[in-house]
Amino acid sequence: MQPTFELSSTSRECSARTGVLRTAHGSIETPCFVPVGTQASLKSLSSEEIRASGTQLLFVNTYHLHLRPGEETIKALGGVHTFMHHDGPLISDSGGFQAFSLGLGLEHGVGKIADIFPDEEKRTINFAKTAKSLVHVDPDGVTFRSHVDGRKLRLTPESSIRIQEALGTDIALALDECTSPLSPKSYVREALLRTTRWAGRSLEAHKSKRQLLFGIIQGGHYRDLREKACRTIGSLPFDGFAVGGDFGRSKREMVRITALVMNSIPRDKPRHILGIGEIDDIFRIVENGADSFDCVMPSRLGRMGHILHKSKIKDQRSTISFTYDITKKVFSKDSKPLDEACLCWVCQTYSRAYMHHLFRTRELLGYRLATYHNVSFLNTLVGDIRRAIRNNSFIKLRNSWLDS
Ligand SMILES: [Zn+2]
Repeated sequence: MQPTFELSSTSRECSARTGVLRTAHGSIETPCFVPVGTQASLKSLSSEEIRASGTQLLFVNTYHLHLRPGEETIKALGGVHTFMHHDGPLISDSGGFQAFSLGLGLEHGVGKIADIFPDEEKRTINFAKTAKSLVHVDPDGVTFRSHVDGRKLRLTPESSIRIQEALGTDIALALDECTSPLSPKSYVREALLRTTRWAGRSLEAHKSKRQLLFGIIQGGHYRDLREKACRTIGSLPFDGFAVGGDFGRSKREMVRITALVMNSIPRDKPRHILGIGEIDDIFRIVENGADSFDCVMPSRLGRMGHILHKSKIKDQRSTISFTYDITKKVFSKDSKPLDEACLCWVCQTYSRAYMHHLFRTRELLGYRLATYHNVSFLNTLVGDIRRAIRNNSFIKLRNSWLDS
């Protein structure tokens, strides 16, 4: 039998690597960008467009699909691949991230993507912006109050696995508890103990032979706790590992944590980084040995009219951005494509002026075209990264994007 994951090349310049991850719905070349289709839908794109955009692996969300339409409905309809008419590999999360986003995320007023790196300085909690937690975590699992209708939902390591097996995704994640960058260390330590116990219970509960199961490395931004997670969870017989946030209070900390974990978990298993996917972050985590990473960024930004392109913009805080705002008046008569080097069908077909018009008039087509371009743009970039790793020119490619 072929191994699930095979390394095909390792960079001579850094810890970057390429490989192939085999799943029941096809092989994935790594490094791989994973767009997020929370409700079994990459917002505004058809399944045909998801594949055409170069997407190799798509994230779907256990908590949200459990709420609506329910995993038993999806199972009765042939599983999530048939349900959403998608024959490519799918990965589901465990619901653990919702324990954060609807719990500590709400209480601390921090998100994983939007402001997890608020700035390089110590952040204080703005209680005016926070809300009451919808989550209660106990040693056995997580109790949610549904954000849709207020009913109580219970998630344990066993029920999370049962839901993901019913969905029929290709890769499942073990239930974990994601802590906030603002959680005290004593809480992060307790949460890690729970996550470690839940990892063992998830492995025991998991029966599917067609579905891979990844363990999640937690430990927040504390070096000793991350090392402990790598030793304990990293030694369990998972098919691969995902690294969960909190990744600290700055991008520098995120890179430090990624490097530490990548050096401490088995090299022969695939490593996924949860919720990271801005272009500068992608180069940094791949450089340190990450094989895949998911992020809502390209689709969320696309719907806001923020277009990815290869031209770096630095704001006053020196935050690097590779986007521009198509709704700005300057694009109203611009006949150029969204990105002049992009080969996606949107860039081959439509002008900035037309896209500007669609967003100004709030036409649905604009959201779809911008999402398609952004996802396709990132998939193309990650394809270029794979080629560069194989040719030992990764650092040159990284510098061509990130250096001023
Ligand atoms: Zn394009």
